[in-house]
Amino acid sequence: MKLRLSEEGLVEGVRYVPSPNCDGRPAGCSIELLLIHAISLPPGEFGGPGIEALFTNQLDPATHPSYATIAGLRVSVHFLIRRDGGLVQFVPCTKRAWHAGESSWRGRSRCNDFSIGIELEGADHVPFEDAQYERLAALTHALRACYPIAGIAGHSDVAPGRKTDPGPYFDWARYRAMVDISRQGTKTAEERRSRTTKDMKVTGRKVPPITGRRLPVMASRTATAPRRRGTAKRSKK
Ligand SMILES: [Zn+2]
Repeated sequence: MKLRLSEEGLVEGVRYVPSPNCDGRPAGCSIELLLIHAISLPPGEFGGPGIEALFTNQLDPATHPSYATIAGLRVSVHFLIRRDGGLVQFVPCTKRAWHAGESSWRGRSRCNDFSIGIELEGADHVPFEDAQYERLAALTHALRACYPIAGIAGHSDVAPGRKTDPGPYFDWARYRAMVDISRQGTKTAEERRSRTTKDMKVTGRKVPPITGRRLPVMASRTATAPRRRGTAKRSKK
């Protein structure tokens, strides 16, 4: 499914659970980093209401022993990708979410200023789901089309020694391959604009928008083609 962002930085058609834990980005600060996290609440358990409760300051410390130390935290993230690939947004991309903490990327501190935080529902001891990689790749494409993303890092990369997420089971090679493969057909908004203008100049006529072919065609789609020839079934009998 192709994802689109509104001008306010909300992904269209996605469940939006507003978090009060956000503020404005510094003036003139562009969004250059995607920061990948992993979380599960209670730790190691999936599907419960804990994560959304944490990011909306509604985590009840009485519901689990591990919540006592985190219930008072004022934290948030822009996106959460559930185990089934379900996407939840807590903070508009245009705003600063509070997910990185003390951090540094390419010599710059305060990663929250210039990053978008994405939590994957997961834990250090289990692989992530296919649906999560798919959704993460789609989200990455949508964000790249809107913002000058210059890099992707894990929380453990920008806060080494303090954070371990997304953990040893996050398959960076797989994610990067998914993003790069599709990227060949995915221009940024800027590139699309300049290319269309250039093409128009060369051909002297309006070229059809290339947006319709931006997403790679899934291999499974082509499987419908041979089936049609199967109408020869009748002759087999
Ligand atoms: Zn994290």
